[in-house]
Amino acid sequence: NIRRMHTGEGTVEPRPAVVTVMGHVDHGKTSLLDSLRQTSVAAKEAGGITQHIGAFVVEMQSGASITFLDTPGHAAFSAMRARGAAVTDIVVLVVAADDGVMPQTLEAMSHAKVANVPIVVAINKCDKSGADPERVRIQLGSEGLLLEDMGGDVQVVEISALSKLGLDKLEEALLLQAEIMDLKARTDGPAQAFVVEARVDRGRGPLATTIVKSGTLVSGQYIVVGAEWGRIRSLRDTVGKVTESAKPAMPVEIEGLRGLPMAGDDVVVVDSEERARMLSQGRKKKQEKDRLRKIDE
Ligand code: GDP
Repeated sequence: NIRRMHTGEGTVEPRPAVVTVMGHVDHGKTSLLDSLRQTSVAAKEAGGITQHIGAFVVEMQSGASITFLDTPGHAAFSAMRARGAAVTDIVVLVVAADDGVMPQTLEAMSHAKVANVPIVVAINKCDKSGADPERVRIQLGSEGLLLEDMGGDVQVVEISALSKLGLDKLEEALLLQAEIMDLKARTDGPAQAFVVEARVDRGRGPLATTIVKSGTLVSGQYIVVGAEWGRIRSLRDTVGKVTESAKPAMPVEIEGLRGLPMAGDDVVVVDSEERARMLSQGRKKKQEKDRLRKIDE
């Protein structure tokens, strides 16, 4: 296909889904992420010890995998949305079976709707004596969520993040949702990626966990991340292992940036230090202008 070659679309391959966990405070988002993290093969290999780098990958026996953003809640989601980085493919909406639908449950629903991201419902705390998953279904239904057991297409799974019940069902539901969405990405050529978390390490300097949207990120490349630039000194996977490259939906921690970027910032690959510096300078100037304009207003 000549046109494809010329437009540089390259090889398009299926990619894992990137999932964000949202829901009302205390409904079990953090507990769910902890339990899911423990089900990942990588965590098992590493003796249960994984780095908290803002994302992790759960690998199924089938070889399929799911990438979870490790920062629960709306802040992370909103920060990325605000910068136009729709990195999330699916939202897991956690609703506690004893508490039912609460204000932040509705907020999460509306965030997902605005972003056009499908929801999979996890009714949590089903181990509790006061659990009433049926009531949660009715509440969600009356809020306009079209659940599958009511003829809609939103999947619902009953879980207990604490006793680790139903997690396999949730993972299956996410794989099915991903399959329905037919998620694909270009895997060759320069990467486009987004920052999900950034921090400064005393010894290693600024570190940014990024998820590639398309292309392949390669160690040694010059990059501009938000308004910062650098050269990739090393890429590490979610268990801290050094890797040469990162493909779509694979979270990696980048070392080698000159400054600290922000969650939601985009990652652009450039071909020289000079270009990296120039682009970074340009973006910093623009940021400063925007800041002054905001003060003026
Ligand atoms: P978050 O605010 O949504 O992140 O909620 P947390 O994960 O911090 O959980 C809030 C509280 O609910 C904690 O005390 C958890 O131990 C508890 N919790 C979370 N999941 C479950 C569950 O499945 N069953 C029970 N019984 N308690 C849970």
